[in-house]
Amino acid sequence: MRFDGHVHTPFCPHGSSDTLNEYAERALSLGYSGITFTEHAPLPYGFTDPVPESDSAMKREDLPRYFQALKEIKQEFKGRLQIFTGLEVDFIEGFEKETDAFLTDVQDYLDDAILSVHFLQHKGKYWCMDYSEDLFGEMASVFGSVDDIYAAYYKTVKDSVQFRFSSFQPRRIGHITLARKFHKRYPAQRTFAEDILFILEEIKARDYQLDYNGAGTVKPNCQEPYPSDWVVQEAAKRKIPLVYGSDAHTAAGLHQGFSELLYRDKLASPFFLDGAE
Ligand SMILES: [Zn+2]
Ligand SMILES: [Zn+2]
Repeated sequence: MRFDGHVHTPFCPHGSSDTLNEYAERALSLGYSGITFTEHAPLPYGFTDPVPESDSAMKREDLPRYFQALKEIKQEFKGRLQIFTGLEVDFIEGFEKETDAFLTDVQDYLDDAILSVHFLQHKGKYWCMDYSEDLFGEMASVFGSVDDIYAAYYKTVKDSVQFRFSSFQPRRIGHITLARKFHKRYPAQRTFAEDILFILEEIKARDYQLDYNGAGTVKPNCQEPYPSDWVVQEAAKRKIPLVYGSDAHTAAGLHQGFSELLYRDKLASPFFLDGAE
């Protein structure tokens, strides 16, 4: 049984125009039984996307078309591939209430969701941590050092896990070592093991899952999955479900990094999948 719980769509403004049908057909040809489409949820009201092209997330006005398109593709692949409706929701410090209100609004459409941190707040200003190497370098000088970015990142991930949404709770925590996206160019001095282990304990205590994300393996200055091997081993010790996520933004990107994952035979699906292997 293969499941991909983190797939982007043509609704992503920084992704590709590959159709939902192309993703689904390719998932089938790769032997997947199910996938969750998890487009970047619209950013909260009042939050200004800090990246130059303002294209970090789906536009709010596209949301009805997104849900409708997923409803249709589910139907089209019924009996062949189980397709779930999801979102990758940003946890943004200071916008928890807005995000909570958003999830309340859309909860009836959702089967699944990932909660991720891409934006870090520093002295009232927001930064997109995984946008580019150059921006990461700039962040290091503004935050103080690379370690200061990591510290802010793990603090925000911890807050995201501990935050309790009032009506719909995303149960999978996205790429929890995303801070390492550029680690070969910008290495941290500390391992942040204590912070990471604490986050794992908090995930376990809430019965959440980890997004075991292959996208980092194809990033030239990362070359490893998120989370890193030792973190995945610690998660496995705690029996935290590991749900593979290609984080594909093109149909060709499905299955990326899979061969580099640990416990490949034991990866979880957040759903009971019917149908044959
Ligand atoms: Zn994306
Ligand atoms: Zn992400």
